[in-house]
Amino acid sequence: MLLLNGTGIGDIAVGRALILDRRDDEISVRNLSQEEVEQEIGRFTQAVARARQRLESMRDELPENAPAELAAFLDAHVLMLEDPLLIDQTAGTIRRERINAEAALHRQEVRLKEVFENINDDYLRSKKNDIGQVVERVQSELSTNSSQLLALDDDLNDRIIVVNDLTPADTVHFRSKHMAGFITNLGGPISHTAILARSLRLPAVVGLHGASRLIRDNDIVVVDGASGTVVVAPDERILEQYERRQERARRHALGLESLRDVPSASEDGVRVSLMANVELPEDVAATINANADGVGLYRTEFMFMNREAPDEEEQYAAYCDVATRVRGPVTIRTLDLGADKQVDGGRADANTAVNPALGLRAVRLCLSNPGLFIPQLRAMLRASVHGDVRIMIPMLSSLNELEQVLELVREVKNSLSRECIAFKPDVPIGGMIEVPAAAIAADLFARKLDFLSLGTNDLIQYTLAIDRVDDEVNYLYDPMHPAVLRLIRHTIEAGENNNIPVSMCGEMAGDPAYTRLLLGLGLREFSMDPATLLAVKREVLRTRVTPVTDTARESLYDSDSARLRSLLNGPTVH
Ligand code: PEP
Ligand code: MG
Repeated sequence: MLLLNGTGIGDIAVGRALILDRRDDEISVRNLSQEEVEQEIGRFTQAVARARQRLESMRDELPENAPAELAAFLDAHVLMLEDPLLIDQTAGTIRRERINAEAALHRQEVRLKEVFENINDDYLRSKKNDIGQVVERVQSELSTNSSQLLALDDDLNDRIIVVNDLTPADTVHFRSKHMAGFITNLGGPISHTAILARSLRLPAVVGLHGASRLIRDNDIVVVDGASGTVVVAPDERILEQYERRQERARRHALGLESLRDVPSASEDGVRVSLMANVELPEDVAATINANADGVGLYRTEFMFMNREAPDEEEQYAAYCDVATRVRGPVTIRTLDLGADKQVDGGRADANTAVNPALGLRAVRLCLSNPGLFIPQLRAMLRASVHGDVRIMIPMLSSLNELEQVLELVREVKNSLSRECIAFKPDVPIGGMIEVPAAAIAADLFARKLDFLSLGTNDLIQYTLAIDRVDDEVNYLYDPMHPAVLRLIRHTIEAGENNNIPVSMCGEMAGDPAYTRLLLGLGLREFSMDPATLLAVKREVLRTRVTPVTDTARESLYDSDSARLRSLLNGPTVH
């Protein structure tokens, strides 16, 4: 039995491991259709380019005193990556034999090694190892491009996937193939993959360095999402303990069910709106089951992953579906693609953006691509006549950007009017406050918008300068940092002063540990994964807002977050 620790997400899963970082002897052959061939050659070419780029930067960054042979060695590997015998021949094999890049490259490697083996010269024969190393580099680039994973067609039959990293698109794909949970070497708890895993009820442990090396295919593993522990090859006694815990969790969830129809108000009568975050159509049922007061965040980008972009009609149908089924407002967010949310789930383009989290993402991407943005705005506006639809803009950072969006919305409304297509002229338009600049200037945004929503996942990432997908800096991710709390309070105040509602839809809103603090900071609208809604409601019901308000306001000037936690998390605060 082996115990490993990483960062946990969700509940418990037990299953057989399926390792997806394949080594040479496990390279599988996948047959391609004629249409897939050119795409596969493109994937191979990009992997080669990435491998070359890495070698070149290693060479450029060699210390002054490094031996000259080292640079020559790296140069020789760069040259090999340009050699037609390796590159063109592999591309030829993909085309001719219609097989995946990994298998074609492996075949070419075997051929070349044979040639070198038969050369009657010790020096040239030793080059065989260099081929192995260069090929290994390209294979590893290919394995980090998840289109390989996306092509996996088999039913996963409740297996636990163990992989270097998983993108949101992979997560959705594997869930549809019935994976029971996953373990990754990389990744953090607020990454979009983690958020999706929660919403898909997929237990996971991320940021477990060496997982794909330490766990073997078919090992029985327990994924304990609550503690972040992975138990490899558990004995009977441990398995029984986990079964008992799963049973207790089921009973606990059933206990919360009784709160479903209880109006959500604090013990001292302050009404609180509890809404749901929706990523996938399946979440609508969970939203209805939890009796949520509406949808506070509909992440539309997941509709665009692993497929061709949906057109206006398809989007319109999807938005109408949610708007008509859910009671209360449905806040549809315009596309937030980019950074860790790529449509193809891969990282093929990752090298083109120096820092994708600070790059062309969300509203920036939409404004630069009206062909993507306008059909979505049209679909949202059209859906507004079928329910209480609100439009929400992510990642606002400048007022000029907001002006551009509002101007575009006006133009879209004009053209719908000209075409005699119905829409609600006063559909509320709100903005996400998730960039510190927008939080600091929240009053200016509040004057031009109908509501604000705090996106704490990004707000914390950008305020504390920690990449939300980088497990190495996870430990710095602190929602109770006074700087974060001040930005939250400042934004709520801007809403109060301008008479517009402020909600929160980041993960912080769905964690009952923060409910009292947020109530004390003046938050009255929470939006979260529907699975956590009743636990948050329980916290709301047993909180008296007046006393927590004093404690929470003190927190803005207190650097001792542990003290604050214990003050707020007593059974009830009076
Ligand atoms: C956030 O940043 O808090 C948020 C809700 O948006 P996303 O997690 O999709 O970036
Ligand atoms: Mg965000």
